[in-house]
Amino acid sequence: MNIKKTEMYTFQSEVKQLLHLMIHSLYSNKEIFLRELISNASDAIDKLRFAAISSSDLYENENDLNIQISVNKAQKTLIISDNGIGMTRQETIDNLGTIAKSGTKAFINSLKEQTNKKNELIGEFGVGFYSSFIVSDKVSVRTRFAGHDPTEGTLWESSGKGEYHVTNITKKNRGTEITLFLKKEEEEFLETWRIKNIVSKYSDHITVPVNIQNYDEEKKTYFWEQINKAKALWTLKKSSITHDEYKDFYKHLTNDQNNPLVWSHNHVEGNLEYISLLYIPEKAAWDIWNRDNKHGLKLYVKRVYIMDNSQEFLPNYLRFVRGLIDSNNLPLNVSREILQGNAITHNLKKALTKRSLNMLDKLSRDSQEKYQIFWNQFGIVLKEGPAEDHDNLKKISNLLRFACSQNNSSEQTLSLQKYVDNMIEKQEKIYYITADSYISAKNSPHLELFNKKNINVLLLSDRIDEWMMNYLIEFEGKKFQSISKEDSSIQTFSEEKKIKNTDLPKNIIEFLKKVKKHLGNQVKDVRITYRLTETPCVVLSDSNEMTTQMAKLFSAAGQSVPELKYIFEINPEHALIKKICSIQNETQFKEWITLLLEQALLSEKGSLENPHQFIARMNNLLLQ
Ligand code: ADP
Ligand code: MG
Repeated sequence: MNIKKTEMYTFQSEVKQLLHLMIHSLYSNKEIFLRELISNASDAIDKLRFAAISSSDLYENENDLNIQISVNKAQKTLIISDNGIGMTRQETIDNLGTIAKSGTKAFINSLKEQTNKKNELIGEFGVGFYSSFIVSDKVSVRTRFAGHDPTEGTLWESSGKGEYHVTNITKKNRGTEITLFLKKEEEEFLETWRIKNIVSKYSDHITVPVNIQNYDEEKKTYFWEQINKAKALWTLKKSSITHDEYKDFYKHLTNDQNNPLVWSHNHVEGNLEYISLLYIPEKAAWDIWNRDNKHGLKLYVKRVYIMDNSQEFLPNYLRFVRGLIDSNNLPLNVSREILQGNAITHNLKKALTKRSLNMLDKLSRDSQEKYQIFWNQFGIVLKEGPAEDHDNLKKISNLLRFACSQNNSSEQTLSLQKYVDNMIEKQEKIYYITADSYISAKNSPHLELFNKKNINVLLLSDRIDEWMMNYLIEFEGKKFQSISKEDSSIQTFSEEKKIKNTDLPKNIIEFLKKVKKHLGNQVKDVRITYRLTETPCVVLSDSNEMTTQMAKLFSAAGQSVPELKYIFEINPEHALIKKICSIQNETQFKEWITLLLEQALLSEKGSLENPHQFIARMNNLLLQ
């Protein structure tokens, strides 16, 4: 490429929006621009180190890798330079003029809606290079790609207003030098003490040395002073690392401003040699529900940075776990393709899954309060576990938490162990109900018998729950049982259990016959209930049929579902049933029975196919 002249470009519209949002929402925390620039410089050095594994001439006789910061008080400039990989002309245009990251557009849109939480959100997001415009009137970037000719350098300049200029230049040293022309009111960033302070706050643990230029008044010379620790924290002995250091490192690693809830740091020797440092965040990332959400661990091989977001080391249901893995067994030239289907990766994944689950188990024992924070943030993700990871089903089951009928709160706090420990005498199964919402589960007529008998029932109302219950078969030898399904164990608790439908008083038998005849094949069966106390009737799924919630899930996913046929159960003690029993007029009787069935269906499904017909029928009967 041989474009010598300066060219002007305009920023992508998302960049303009981001710049605008950032300048107006981050003014109280401007210092983070330095963290972002140092982080980019450190990434660039990591990339060089990695590329140089296969072609060492990229070092160009300069392999003292470091980041340098200097100030020019006269010109009010702050300069951050690195001898990392650098950028080509096209790369400056692609990387500094557009936002390539997936999900970023969605993020900007969500920011516009959430005016009150902007600061927090944008902090979590990791604002990157553009944050330099918070403190600068103008930013100029001089860069040259490692291994390229010095004449192939690039100068990128912008005042962050909407356009930028790109020019070809000669740059002797590889890497990138960023000059910030500070705004008048930002001169504090020209003070060495201020810079040192920010670097030690945010950048102590980046593995590259950060040097600042100092002036020796006596000798009248400049000298470089290293201002960060520049030691890979995870390689240090556990006992030599303080809690604060672990927390700072987490923030540096993840860009998350919140502290981690808990971490697990392990040096492992033997066949599989590795160091892992895993964290559980306190807050879910803004895009954890996004399918493209980049997750996974940072991968190092023998202390050399290889890649971010390697998803191969943890199952999907643990995608909230952050941290790093440093392997001694993997080759340095490992790629994503090699990672997939590799035996070492497979074994590491197994080991790290165990470590993550054990860390959560320990957290649940050590601090109920912290565990609850975890569960409220990530419980829904962990609920994917039973379907994804059969080998660890027992461990995962122990980590689940539920709302239940005997707790007056929608918060999910009950463990299965606690449920089983508090089962009543003769109770053989773990009972649960799934519904669209907590309120709807909590008020389901199916609960009446259980409340009367003091039997606790798990109330499940997350979308994933019905799916999860397909994979939770038993816990501690107790089977799971949906209470909206036909099941003989439920009858055991009923006082009416001995009453068979044929032993009933004659008028009731007659009544059932009439109902059956009228409803025909709209229902599977009609019978007297042993479950209800306050409700006239209810519908149940047959034991071998799909539940209502499952059917809803399938139709929401666009799948066709066979029509569900329910068992219709009637409570003969209920005043309304007694009244209907005595109705002689055939037409009126039928209207009442249809209305009862519609009521029961509405209560079970939360909706009816033809609600207008239902309302018309009810209004007619009310008028009579
Ligand atoms: P992120 O670091 O999250 O990718 P940034 O906005 O901080 O986002 O940076 C955008 C991109 O610009 C980087 O991904 C990188 O490709 C490039 N870049 C920024 N600073 C440097 C640098 N000092 N050396 C080389 N490339 C850089
Ligand atoms: Mg960055």
